[in-house]
Amino acid sequence: MFAGKIAIVTGSTSGIGLAIAEALAAKGATVVLNSFSDTEKDHALAAGIAARYGVEAAYIRADMAKPAECRALVELAARRFGRADILVNNAGIQFVAPVEEFPVERWDAIIAINLTSAFHTIAAAVPHMRKAGFGRIVNIASAHGLRASPNKSAYVAAKHGLVGLTKTVALELAGRGVTCNAVCPGFVLTPLVETQIIDRMAETGLDRETTIRDVILQKQPSKQFASLEEIAAATLFLASPEAAQVTGTTLSVDGGWTAQ
Ligand code: NAD
Repeated sequence: MFAGKIAIVTGSTSGIGLAIAEALAAKGATVVLNSFSDTEKDHALAAGIAARYGVEAAYIRADMAKPAECRALVELAARRFGRADILVNNAGIQFVAPVEEFPVERWDAIIAINLTSAFHTIAAAVPHMRKAGFGRIVNIASAHGLRASPNKSAYVAAKHGLVGLTKTVALELAGRGVTCNAVCPGFVLTPLVETQIIDRMAETGLDRETTIRDVILQKQPSKQFASLEEIAAATLFLASPEAAQVTGTTLSVDGGWTAQ
């Protein structure tokens, strides 16, 4: 489905980003993996994907907290592979605290990585997409891009901002073969959520199972985590040729959370 296409996935050494990169490669895309580190393990991840799926894959280090590095990621990928067809803005971090105690440095990091990085990668990718007359931008937002929860001021602000950015970019590129959409996952069991489970268990004194059901998944009516494969499948649909007229929208994969 994606043979001949180049896909850049930010924050793709773990969790949702890695699952999306794997799924794109499995359907024939050349994939660019990314994170802020530069270890043998990072490069081995890309080599493993290339070997497993018979595609080209590269790891490019870039810190999504740094505007110049966000833009350089896209430019390096486009130079190496000659195009930038699919951009998945996935890199994200979380921090939980009441607004009056929220550390300024955590606020700045969350806004930079979860929101501003997407502005920079999109700005760098759009000229390539316009020139090719084809592009698919998928921003991994969250149910928190559509609804709020207490103690997540920076994350909720960044994800609402990302949904707004998605709609604006969609309008700017409508009719040019380039779409921009957001996937809004509910809770998915990844390292980002594992930290929250451990913190909430410590706070409440509840066991793991009860904490997951009654605290973490309190707002998710299905009482089930969304799976990595389900988030990847939603992303691949938005990146597919069949989604040409789907633009400026959000696709919720949240067990019913935002139906409430
Ligand atoms: P994760 O912690 O497993 O993975 C995050 C990835 O981002 C890692 O590869 C990490 O190395 C990378 N990253 C972090 N800081 C970076 C930086 N400065 N520069 C480059 N890369 C960086 O998290 P995840 O749960 O897979 O989350 C992925 C995305 O999905 C995030 O945007 C998150 O907000 C969103 N999301 C997650 C959930 C969930 O329940 N897990 C729900 C809704 C939305």
